[in-house]
Amino acid sequence: MYKIMTAGPSQVRENVREARALPCTNPDIDPAFFDFYHETCSLLSKALHTDLTAFILGGEGILGLEAACASLTEPGDRVLVIDNGIFGKGFADFVKIYEGDAVLFTTDYHEPVPLDALAAFLEKDHNFKYATVVHCDTPSGVLNDVEAISMLLDSYGIMVVADSVAGMFGEPLDLGHSKIDILCGGSQKALSCPPGLTMVWVSDRAFAAMENRKTPIRSFYANLLAMKDYYEDQWFPYTMPVSDINGLRQALDNFLADKDVFERHACIAHATREAIKAAGLSLYLKKGMSNTVTVVNVPQGITDRELLQGMARDYNILISGCFDVLAGKVVRIGHMGESCNRKDVVDTLYAMQKVLEAHGIPLKCDMKEKFMELSCS
Ligand SMILES: *Cc1c(COP(=O)(O)O)cnc(C)c1O
Repeated sequence: MYKIMTAGPSQVRENVREARALPCTNPDIDPAFFDFYHETCSLLSKALHTDLTAFILGGEGILGLEAACASLTEPGDRVLVIDNGIFGKGFADFVKIYEGDAVLFTTDYHEPVPLDALAAFLEKDHNFKYATVVHCDTPSGVLNDVEAISMLLDSYGIMVVADSVAGMFGEPLDLGHSKIDILCGGSQKALSCPPGLTMVWVSDRAFAAMENRKTPIRSFYANLLAMKDYYEDQWFPYTMPVSDINGLRQALDNFLADKDVFERHACIAHATREAIKAAGLSLYLKKGMSNTVTVVNVPQGITDRELLQGMARDYNILISGCFDVLAGKVVRIGHMGESCNRKDVVDTLYAMQKVLEAHGIPLKCDMKEKFMELSCS
C-alpha cells in the first residue's frame, strides 16, 4: 500500500471507508434516502456559508465542470475563460463542445490573476454570458481570489462558474460573500473521499438562465436543471450512488467537526514550502500558493519520473508529476485533507531528499528537520 501524497486523490479516513460499507437502500424510491441526500446537501451549503443550493452528482470532479458549461452554454454565447493555469484554460474545451464562443483572458501562470488587469480588460470588453475561473489550479498550485473576481464580474452582470475542486475544504471559501453562480467541487481532494462524486452549488440566477434558454440543454447526465426539483418531485434523473454518498456524508461530518482545519493546512503548507526552499530547491510559483498543494521545480540532474518512481519504489510514497505545459517540469506534493498531517509530510520530504541525494543532488539542509522546526503540531 502506498502513502498517497498526491495533488488528489488524497488519503481516506477509516470512518469514511466504513460508511461506504453500510447497507444499501434503493435511492430511487426510499423516502429516507431523499431526506438523507437533502440534509447532506444542506450541510454542504452550511460548510461554505451560503444559501446556494448544493447537489451531489454521480461522477468524478470533471462532471461538475462540464455540467456547468453544458447547462449554461447556448450556441454562440460569449464566455470569458480566465486562464492562469491548465484547468483554467481547460474550461475553453467544455465551452467549445457546447458551441460557445470561448474568449481567453490569459495571465502569468506563476501568480494569481491580477484583479487590476482583469478590471482593465473588462472595462473594454464585458459582453459575456458567464465567466469561468479556478480557485486552486492544481498543476501550478496557484490560488486565485475567486470571491473578489466574482464580485468584479458581477458588477458587469456576468455570471461566474468557479472550479474549487482542489481548494474547498483546504482553503477557506466564503461562498456567501461571493457572486459565484455555479461552484464545482469534487470528493477526492481536500474532502478526502475516494474519487467518484462531484458537488455543485447553484444560484437561482444560474437556474433562471437555464430555464430561459432558447435551445434545450444538450446533455442528459450533465444537465443541472434535471436535478433542480429532485426533493419536491422525489425523483432523481439517474440512480444515485448510495455508498459514495454515505462516505461523503461522513467526510463532511469529519470536516465540520475539525475546528482548526484551515490553520493546519496553512501551517503545514508554509513549513513544506520553507523546507523546500531552505534545501535549495525552487517552487514553481512566485506568489499565491494554495495551502493544499506544493509545486516544486524538478532540479537539474534528475527527471520527474526518476524522482516519482524512486519515492514510490523505495519509500512507498506517491506524489504527483504534472501534465500539459508543465509535464516533466514540476512535481507536486499534495497536503490536503487527510494527507495534511505532520507525519506524512515529514516522511514525504525525507523520501524526496533521499532520492535526490541518491541521484547526486546535494541539498542545503535536512528538509525533514526544517519542516519539523517550522510546522505546528
Ligand atoms: C482534480 C481536479 C479536477 C478534477 O479533475 P481530475 O483531474 O479528473 O481529478 C478539476 N479541477 C481541478 C482544479 C482539480 O484539481
